[in-house]
Formats: sequence, C-alpha cells, structure tokens
Amino acid sequence: MSTAPNRKLRLGMVGGGFGAYIGGIHRFAARLDNHYELVAGAFDVNADRGHQFAAENYIAADRSYTDYKAMVAGELAREDKIDVVAICTPNHTHFAIAKAFIDAGFHVICEKPMTTTLEDAEALHALAKSSGRFVGVTYTYCGYPMIHAARAMVAAGDLGSIRVIQVEYPLEWMATAIESEGNQQAKWRTDPKLSGRGGSIGDIGTHAYHLAGFVTGLKAEALCADLTTFVPGRSLDDNAHVMIRYEGGARGLLWSSQVAIGCSNGLRLRVFGEKASIQWHQEAPNEITFSPLFGKPETIKRGRDDLGDGATVRTRTPPGHPEGYIEAFANLYSGFAEAMRAINEGRSPSAIGVNVPTSYDGLKGVAFVDAVVDSHEKAPFGWTKPAHA
Ligand code: NAD
Repeated sequence: MSTAPNRKLRLGMVGGGFGAYIGGIHRFAARLDNHYELVAGAFDVNADRGHQFAAENYIAADRSYTDYKAMVAGELAREDKIDVVAICTPNHTHFAIAKAFIDAGFHVICEKPMTTTLEDAEALHALAKSSGRFVGVTYTYCGYPMIHAARAMVAAGDLGSIRVIQVEYPLEWMATAIESEGNQQAKWRTDPKLSGRGGSIGDIGTHAYHLAGFVTGLKAEALCADLTTFVPGRSLDDNAHVMIRYEGGARGLLWSSQVAIGCSNGLRLRVFGEKASIQWHQEAPNEITFSPLFGKPETIKRGRDDLGDGATVRTRTPPGHPEGYIEAFANLYSGFAEAMRAINEGRSPSAIGVNVPTSYDGLKGVAFVDAVVDSHEKAPFGWTKPAHA
C-alpha cells in the first residue's frame, strides 16, 4: 500500500452519518490541508441511512458499505483502495473495527477513548506495533499550536521543575437526563456497555489527562479518584475529581464534569513550576498566560516566531486572526498524514508528523479510566497505579 507523495491519501470513514457529532469535524479537518479525499464509508449503524448519507456526500454507490466488515472486504478488493479509515463510532465498537482494518493492512485514525477495556487497549496497541500500521488517536487539544508552545516552554525549563498541575474539563450539556429524552450522543455515553467503565472521566477526563501529560511530559505514578453521578437514574459518573501523583513529586488535580452549568467547553490547564506558571483555556486557545515568580504576567499569543517548531508548523494565519477547534483538529489530521506517508515511504516524519497522539496515548487513556474507577471503588483510600503511564 505505497502512497505516492503526489496524491492525496484515500480516506474511509466508519460512523459519522446523519445527526452524528464528531464525524463531521473529522471531515472538516481532513479537508483543510488537502491531504485526504473521502472516498468510502459505512457511515451509519443503519445501512439505509448510511447509503443515503453517502449519496448526499458524493461517495460512489459502490463504496458505500452496509457495515465495516463489508467495507474491509470491498476496499481490499480494489486497486484504488483506501489508505486509512477514520473510526467515528461509539466507544464499544472501536476495538473490533480498528482490528479488522489493521489486520487488512490499513492505517487507522481512531476516536478516543480507544477501547472500552484495558485488555482491548493493550491488544490494539500491540497489534499497531506488530503490524507497522499507523494508529492515530484523536486527542483533539494537542492539535493547538499554543499547546505545543506550552510543551516547549516546560521542556526548556521556563517554569523550573513542575510542582502542581490543575486541569479541568467542565461541560453542562448533560446536567439533566437528556439521555431519556432521545439525545443520541447522551444515550450511548451513559450506558456502560457502550461507553466503558467511565462516564465523564472516559469521555472528557481522558482529554484532560492527555493534555496534562502532553504539556508537562510527566507520567502519573498513582491516582486517587472520587466519582459522582448527580443525575438520577444514570449508571456512569457525570462528575469526577482525581488527585494525581506525578513522577518527580508534582501533584495534579483533574476535574471532569458533564453537569457543570455555565461551562460550554471549559477545558483549562494550569501548570505551576518553581519559577513560573502557565495557563491555557480552550475557549481562548490562541494565547497562554505566562507568570514568572514576582514578575509581570505576560500574554503570549499564537503566531510569534519564538514558540518552537511544534507551534510554528501548526500555525496557519498571522497573529490576531483567530484560529480554533477545526484548525487544531486539522493539525492532527495533517500530522497523521505525514506520519502515514513517512511509514509508507520508509523515512522519518517531518515536524508536523512528530508528537502526534498514537495507540500508545490511546492505551494510556484507557489505563487512566481503569485506574480511576478502581480507585473510586476502593475509596476513601484508593491510591491506584495506572497500568500504563
Ligand atoms: P454519535 O452518536 O454522534 O455518532 C456515532 C455515529 O456512529 C452515528 O452515525 C452512528 O450511526 C454510527 N455508528 C454506530 N455504530 C456503528 C457501526 N457499528 N458501524 C457504523 N456506524 C456506526 O457519537 P459522537 O458523539 O460523534 O462520538 C463518536 C466517537 O467520537 C466516540 O468514541 C466519542 O468518544 C468520540 N468523540 C471524540 C471527540 C473529540 O474531541 N475527539 C468529541 C466527541 C466525540
């Protein structure tokens, strides 16, 4: 499956049909830098709706498939087969779909959490490694240039050694039982068979955990969690507080909540070192506040030329023009494209294809959810070591 550098990658998609949330964001992201062409899909759990979606989105009828198994078989049989599949389905389906495509030799872009069990995450990561296929996991927020700038600042020692990491991901959209009023997204997210062991902690806590580890480079040594379900009748947590002990002595506090009224998409990271701190908020993603000890806080804005390669290669427009969520997601897609082309061509990836989230990050996210739920079940003294950090 070699890919000539002068052609777009052929992308297939599973899920992401009518009324779905993240599939549309993947399609925006795949289009922005012109690396991909969406040519095939099994877009819906209901095949008729999937075919209708495909027709309305200019997918050839013979490449609109009834399900992912038919898609693997149909694409394998073609000369112009897809290079990569994007898996945009609910959590419980990720493992089987990803495995089927990897086994058939395709690269994979998989949504988070990567799987619903630690066992499956370990198996999928092992398969990714042994197959040599690329498996990217869409931890969206590490696509932001300013997150790469923050990571570079921590790595350069601008903060000194890290003492405290505060990360929170509060949302309000599940503050009432919308899952029993027909909300498609809330329905599967509140069902442990479809979502996995974590509610808010799996859905958004994994993003926060990844972001904290990505920026600081620190591994979690142990954690202690308190999960709560506020909305009556719900079987998974809709609010989580997690204390984290990081290597080197840093202490973290992670809050994820789906019942935080007033918060639309309030992902926020604050990292405090011995010399300085940084703060970043996803609703104002083009800037970081840098506060040196006893010094004047400085707002560092996207587009400066001293923010490091990671930020520079992910910056599209000059400072002052807002870039946001779609651009960050597109940065992931461009990084994945470069990582896949590098594998196909037997070379090292250029800067945008480095430090992209892969199956190992997916595995660490699932291990985090597992440790959080284990710890909660051991409360009130539930310090628990994640199996992978
Ligand atoms: P959704 O319910 O809106 O959409 C799911 C889609 O998958 C629907 O089109 C459904 O018909 C389809 N589907 C279900 N089972 C299928 C199957 N077996 N074969 C083909 N299609 C199937 O869900 P969503 O909110 O878009 O979430 C999907 C995934 O994306 C989840 O894993 C979620 O955690 C993740 N997600 C990630 C982010 C992010 O920031 N990276 C944001 C939102 C959701």
